[in-house]
Amino acid sequence: MRALVTGAAGFIGSHLCEHLLAGGDSVVGVDAMTDYYDPLRKERNLAGLLGRERFGFVRGDLLELPLEPLLAEAEVVYHLAGQPGVRGSWGEQFAVYLERNVQATQCLLEAARTAPPRRFVYASSSSVYGDAESYPVTETLRPRPLSPYGVTKLAAEHLCELYRTCHGIPTVSLRLFSVYGPRQRPDMAFARLVPAAFSGEPFPLHGDGEQTRDFTYVRDVVTAMRRAALCDWTGVANVGGSGRAVSMNQVIAIVSELAAPVRLLRTPEQDGDVRHTSADTSVARRAFGYRPTVGIREGLAAMVRAEREERWARARAEPAPRAAVPG
Ligand code: NAD
Repeated sequence: MRALVTGAAGFIGSHLCEHLLAGGDSVVGVDAMTDYYDPLRKERNLAGLLGRERFGFVRGDLLELPLEPLLAEAEVVYHLAGQPGVRGSWGEQFAVYLERNVQATQCLLEAARTAPPRRFVYASSSSVYGDAESYPVTETLRPRPLSPYGVTKLAAEHLCELYRTCHGIPTVSLRLFSVYGPRQRPDMAFARLVPAAFSGEPFPLHGDGEQTRDFTYVRDVVTAMRRAALCDWTGVANVGGSGRAVSMNQVIAIVSELAAPVRLLRTPEQDGDVRHTSADTSVARRAFGYRPTVGIREGLAAMVRAEREERWARARAEPAPRAAVPG
């Protein structure tokens, strides 16, 4: 398969590119290297991909690039580019969320009309649900986002559905639930928690720590994306973790055990944070055989290992301290 991956230098996008290449696909990645977080991290994510056989990269913004030529080459489009994060989406920043999540998706779908791909897989979000009426959430529940970010992800998902029904673009929207793993975005909780365990710096814990999430390991997510692209199904599906919601207090206890005890700095709950998430994944299971395989302990152990290796590499790269000269 020839794949186009938008947001290829990001956390999930870079894992997806690796997974597709490992599966024998050819990949063109696109990324604007936005400064939502340090673009140097994105350069590092890309470093493992550039120069590899069957991988090409286009640096640019979906709102500015000529998209038809990119789509003409693609059999499958994986659309992950966007402005993530619920907390920063209030106030003036909403304009950025509209551009990067809604307008960019519309531009890509519009361009897909001239050369429809075999599948158009969109990275939607569990944020579309907000505080749901019942758990685990099914795709038929009425979405009620609790953040402007969630509103833009839902709007983009509606655009995918609209272009599917009106223009025959075969779209699949996967509602991803709290994705984690090595290279996780630095604004996400585990990406701050694991380094805090090593450095001894306090970890800011919002609220009482009893909020729960259906954490999903990144390898399960990218496997689901490729499977969804290869089957004939279209529509909207949840992609969650083990199905067992895990609290932040439980996560902190596991990381403390795997690395070192975490010091906590207790802070108030944040606007836009939902209390619980938990996914019913039976639609994804029936449609493309989705079965998450990585439990929370195993996934956190992979993050702890990656952090340890990075610290060793950094320590080796630093010049050795010069011996003091007596007198
Ligand atoms: P990320 O910020 O690491 O990756 C997104 C990438 O998109 C970035 O590298 C950014 O530079 C690029 N980008 C943004 N706007 C662009 C534009 N207009 N043109 C080209 N590139 C652009 O985020 P992530 O955590 O890897 O998330 C990827 C996608 O999955 C996002 O759409 C996000 O909303 C969605 N998602 C993520 C999670 C999660 O837990 N990480 C959960 C649900 C949904």
